Amino acid sequence: MEKKNTWETYDKKQLKELEALCAEYRDFLSEAKTERECVDRIVNAAEAAGYRELEALVKDGASLKAGDKVYSVWMNKSIVLFQMGDKPMCEGMNILGAHIDSPRMDIKQNPLYEESGFAYLDTHYYGGVKKYQWVTIPLAIHGVIIKKDGTTVEINIGENEDDPVFFVSDLLIHLAQEQLRKDAAKVIEGEALDLIIGNRPIVIDKKKNDKKTRDEKDESAGKEAVKRGVLRILKDNYDIEEEDFLSAELEVVPAGRAREAGFDRSMILAYGQDDRVCAFTSLKAMLDTPVTDRTICCILVDKEEIGSVGATGMRSHFFENAVAEVMNLAGEYSELNVRRCLARSCMLSSDVSSGYDPSYAQCFDRKNVAMLGNGMVFNKFTGSAGKSGSNDANAEYIAHIRDIMEKGNVNIQTAELGKVDLGGGGTIAYVLALYGMNVIDSGVAVLNMHAPWEATSKADVYEAYRGYKAFIKGACL
Ligand code: MN
Ligand code: MN
Repeated sequence: MEKKNTWETYDKKQLKELEALCAEYRDFLSEAKTERECVDRIVNAAEAAGYRELEALVKDGASLKAGDKVYSVWMNKSIVLFQMGDKPMCEGMNILGAHIDSPRMDIKQNPLYEESGFAYLDTHYYGGVKKYQWVTIPLAIHGVIIKKDGTTVEINIGENEDDPVFFVSDLLIHLAQEQLRKDAAKVIEGEALDLIIGNRPIVIDKKKNDKKTRDEKDESAGKEAVKRGVLRILKDNYDIEEEDFLSAELEVVPAGRAREAGFDRSMILAYGQDDRVCAFTSLKAMLDTPVTDRTICCILVDKEEIGSVGATGMRSHFFENAVAEVMNLAGEYSELNVRRCLARSCMLSSDVSSGYDPSYAQCFDRKNVAMLGNGMVFNKFTGSAGKSGSNDANAEYIAHIRDIMEKGNVNIQTAELGKVDLGGGGTIAYVLALYGMNVIDSGVAVLNMHAPWEATSKADVYEAYRGYKAFIKGACL
């Protein structure tokens, strides 16, 4: 079967729309590098589009009717949006889902130490990473520190031109003969991913006699002076103490904005495209769709990269609870109706696909791989070692999807991750499939997936957006 390159099919108007969408997408990637930052931005966009918070509506005992728009945030890290359709919810919804967490390094709970004149923050990586890719590049720290009194201190350092950045060191090539003989998995070990955050000892003003400097004078002047210097800066700028790291969620991510790539500017190179490329385009499609027959829904969740676990992962009941609350406000709640709603829903569970990389041709089946520029990707199944752990979409459902996409003139391709025995991966699809609904994996092809900088094709971003729109408007099996 021949695959067609999407770029060749666009007219001027579409190219203009594509560029506008991708510019907005690059802003999203640049400004939302953690789940919390994504949720903040999504809430702003949703409220601007007329969405109201579910918990507030529940409190007010509001009632929902066709056209009403509702969102619910869970622990600041996951969000679900609903737009009420003309038909009762128990007839099923059309659902878009994607994840907003990405691989990175998290700061440990007791992270700060000094060694040989350097102050460090110790990290624990999150999700699947090739550790050697995370050394020597400029890194930013994003996240929150929650103080004992409940105050939230938001941290975002390393993104502005005049912000400092941070880095993990690597051994100079001149002394690396032994290091270079190690397995790539061991060249940089997990415990070696310690972030360098300072190199200058604290300066104590001996003339001043306030309590703070007196305490510092009592200690030996040189003891952990660099670490104390960093702590002084943290105190002055954020009013936090070393102990406050205990209740912090700080993520170390590549510093810098998303960029256009290639002389022809055909691609986007950025951190976190797995899976914010699907999250952004799903959200956009949701916000741009007028009232439809069926209620439409968009789920954007945390924790996919570590197995969809935890209270904010897809396996948490927060989504099901939100559906029950929404049905209650719509006047059609019953245990049975919730089950019917979920079982009769249709879903695109979106996540990135591995893009074919000619430099590693031996790892892919050329007939069954996603090509950058060839459009939105559908995966009948994912998983590893004999489809293990995968949701395997029904052929009947795929036929329906083909029909919707053809009518919407969306360029699609089907793919597997790579060659059968080489590895594999999972998505959130299997979790929603537990309700018995029709789910298929779909999304956008990515080159260098899980690397600090991942690449996508602008054409695929645009096709995914168009595909999601066609789906939420037209799906009904
Ligand atoms: Mn993913
Ligand atoms: Mn991933």
